[in-house]
Amino acid sequence: MPARGVRVLVPFGPRRVIGLVTGIATALPETMKDVVEVLDEVPLAPPPLLDLATWISEHYLAPPGECHRLVLPPAGVRASRAVVRLSGGEMSPSDDDPVLAALRAGPLPLSTLAKRMGRDPTARIARLRREGRVEVDQDLARPGFRQLRIAVLTPTAADLRPRGRAQAEVLGRLTAAGGRAPVPHVLRDRPSLRGALDRLVEQGAITIEEERAVRTPEMLEGPVKLRPEPTGDQASVLQPILAALGAGFAPFLLHGVTGSGKTEVYFRAIERTLEQGRSALLLVPEIALTPLLVRAAVGRLGAVVSVLHSELSVGERHDQWWRLREGEARVAIGARSAVFAPLTDVGLVIVDEEHEAAYKQDESPRYHGRDVAVMRARLEGAVVLLGSATPSLESNHNALAGKYRRLVLPRRIGSQGMARVDVVDRRQALKAGADPILTPPLRDALAERLARKEQSLLLLNRRGYATSLLCRECGMQAMCPNCSVALTLHKGGRVALCHYCAFETSAPRACGSCKGEYLRLTGYGTEKVLEAVRAALPTARVERLDRDLAVRRGAVAHVLASFEAGETDILVGTQMIAKGHDFPRVTLVGVVDADVGLGLPDFRAAERTFQLLTQVAGRSGRADLAGEVILQSHRPDHYALQLACAQDYDAFFEREMEFRRTMAYPPAATLVNLVLRARDSTEGAEAADAVAARLRGLAGGNFRVLGPAFAPLARLRQEHRFQILLKGRRKAMRDAVREALVERYGRVRWPGVAVDVDPVTIM
Ligand code: ADP
Ligand code: ZN
Repeated sequence: MPARGVRVLVPFGPRRVIGLVTGIATALPETMKDVVEVLDEVPLAPPPLLDLATWISEHYLAPPGECHRLVLPPAGVRASRAVVRLSGGEMSPSDDDPVLAALRAGPLPLSTLAKRMGRDPTARIARLRREGRVEVDQDLARPGFRQLRIAVLTPTAADLRPRGRAQAEVLGRLTAAGGRAPVPHVLRDRPSLRGALDRLVEQGAITIEEERAVRTPEMLEGPVKLRPEPTGDQASVLQPILAALGAGFAPFLLHGVTGSGKTEVYFRAIERTLEQGRSALLLVPEIALTPLLVRAAVGRLGAVVSVLHSELSVGERHDQWWRLREGEARVAIGARSAVFAPLTDVGLVIVDEEHEAAYKQDESPRYHGRDVAVMRARLEGAVVLLGSATPSLESNHNALAGKYRRLVLPRRIGSQGMARVDVVDRRQALKAGADPILTPPLRDALAERLARKEQSLLLLNRRGYATSLLCRECGMQAMCPNCSVALTLHKGGRVALCHYCAFETSAPRACGSCKGEYLRLTGYGTEKVLEAVRAALPTARVERLDRDLAVRRGAVAHVLASFEAGETDILVGTQMIAKGHDFPRVTLVGVVDADVGLGLPDFRAAERTFQLLTQVAGRSGRADLAGEVILQSHRPDHYALQLACAQDYDAFFEREMEFRRTMAYPPAATLVNLVLRARDSTEGAEAADAVAARLRGLAGGNFRVLGPAFAPLARLRQEHRFQILLKGRRKAMRDAVREALVERYGRVRWPGVAVDVDPVTIM
C-alpha cells in the first residue's frame, strides 16, 4: 500500500500520468483502476505539508492539483527530469552498470538515481540515452551555496559496541566509505538512520565536520556580525517567545518600530529552535532586497541554512529542496513560496514585514503567504512570529481580538530616537514657482548631506520618465492598445511602455487621434527625478533602484552594495528602497510625492500609504547620526500622512478601522473577488450577469453581492474584465461561488474566471 505523499503512475484514459497519493480510501468503486507503479520509496512531502495543500485548495477555492504542486520538489510532478525510466529495449542485456540495473527494476526519482551514481544531483543532471547509457549533462553544473556536513569516524568507534541495527548500519556505511562521508550519503535512502547517527555523535564515536563544497555566491559573503546581547526591550519580548517554543501552536505579532532590532529577536528564537532539535522557517517579502538579513543569518546560523533565492537555477533549487527534505538544512529562508519548504519537525515560522502585499500570490492558487504560514504553524504545532513596524490591519485586529499575542518593541536601538519628519506643502511651493520635483527645502537638505558626506534616499513610488503623453490639440492621451491604461514614457521619453502587459513602442510623434504634432509629456517618475537631482546637484553620485532595473540579473544587488559601500550619495527609487534596509550613513529621506498611492481606487490606499511612508522614514538616522525626513505633498492634512509623520501606528489603526467598519471592508468583513475575462465584451457581460444573479440567489442573507461592474482595469491584455465583489461570511461565500461556477462551467476548469478569496487589492 503506497503511503500518503508518494507518487504513483496511474492509467488515465489511454495515457499514464503521475499522481500523488493524498489519502487512502477504504471503500472503492468497482470501476477504479489499479495503480501501475509506485514511484517513490518515501513520501515526497511530509504529512503536514500535504494537509496544508488541502487546506489551501479549500480555503482559496483552487484546484487540488495546483495546490499540491506547491509542496512537491520544484518541477516535480510534471517534469520528465524528476523521474528517470528506461524507455526502450535497445540496451544490451549484458550491461552490468548498477544504475541501469536499478532502472531496470523501475523508474527512479532523479535524486535517488544521482545518489546511486555517487554524484551530486544538482551539479549534474542525469539523462538516460536511448541506447541505455546514463549521460551526465555538464552544462547545468553551476556553483551553489552548499556547505556539506561530513561525518568522520573517530578512534572511540573501535571500542564502541553499536546498540541496535541502526547504529551498526550507520557505522558500517561510514566504514565502507573510508571513514569519512557527507551526512546525506550516510543517510541515503534511509532518513530514519538520523536518530542513530545523532546518538553516535553524542557518544563521540562520530564527529561532524563542515566543509564548503562549492563556492559561495557573493551575496552570502561578507563580515559576520557578532552576536549582540539583547537589550532590555528585546529580552522582554523574547521571554514569552522562548517559553512558547516546543509547547505547541502559539501565534505572536511582534510590532517593533523601524530599527528596534527585530532581526536579533528572530535569530535568538531560531537558535533556540535548533537547540531543541527542530527546524525553522524565515519568510521575507523579497530575497533580493534583504541581502543583509540573509548574510547575517548565514553568518550566525551557518551551514544549516538554505536560502531559497529566486535566482537559483533549476538544479540548485532541486538541490536545496532535497537538503531541506533530508534534514541536512534545518532553516529555510525565502520569499512567499518558502512557506512550503519541506522541513520536518518545524518548531518556528517567522514572517518578517508581515504587512507586505508581496506575500499574496496574484495567480492561482491565490494564497497569502502570511496566512498560510500561520496555518502551517498550526499544523506543525509550532510558534509563528509575525513581525512588522506597520502591522497589517488584519494582524493587529487579530492581536487585539486575542487570537495572536501582541509583543511590542517601542524604541530604536541606540541613542537616536525616530527621525524628525517635516512636510512641505507642494501647493504653496508650486504657487511660488518652485521646481515641482525638488522644492527648495528638499534640495537644500540634499545639498547639506552631500557637503557632510552623508547619504540620502529619495522615494517616488512611480517608475519611468513621464506618466503620460498628451495631445495639446485634442487632449487625447497615448493609450495601450491592449489595456485600458495610459502608456508610461521611459528612457528619457523615447519609449512608451504599458506597465500591465509590457507592450512597448517608440514614443509616438503625432497624436493617434487628430494627427496633431504638439504632444506634451505630463507627470513624472523615478527616471525624471534622477535627471532633476543630477541637474540640481551635478557633483552628487546618484543611482536609481526600481523594477526597470530589476530585470537585469544581479543589478539590484549591485546598486544596493554600492550604496552600502558609500560609493553612491543619493539613491532614487520606488518602494524598493523603503524595505528593511539598514544603511547607517543615511540621514535624509525625501519623499518626492507622498500622495502617489492615495488616489488609487482601492480600499487599502490609505493603509499602503501609511505603511510606505512609515517604512521609508524608518530608513533615516539608524545608527549614531540623527535622521530627518521631508515629505512633499498636495494633501498634507490627510490622516495617513499626518499619522505617518507622527509615527503613530495605534492612532492610524483606530482611524482606518472606522472606515473599514463603515464600508464593510477587511478586517471588518471578508471579501471574495471574482474577475471574469472575455475577448468579447458582450459575452463577458452576459456571463458576469448570469454568475452574479446566481450568487444573489444563493446569498440567503449570508453575504452581499456587488456588481457586476467593469473592473478598475476594464481591459487588460486585449480582454474585457468584469468584477463581482462578495462581502460577508467566508464559508457561505465560498460554497456559493463553487456552486455557481460548477453549474456554469463544470467541475474541472473555470475558464476566464479568477477567484480571489481574501484579496489584498480589488484593483
Ligand atoms: P528592525 O528590523 O527592527 O528595523 P534591525 O534588526 O535591523 O531593526 O536592527 C537595527 C540595528 O540595531 C541593526 O544595525 C542591528 O545590528 C542593531 N542591533 C540589534 N540588536 C542589537 C543589540 N542587542 N545590541 C546592539 N545592536 C543591536
Ligand atoms: Zn497593456
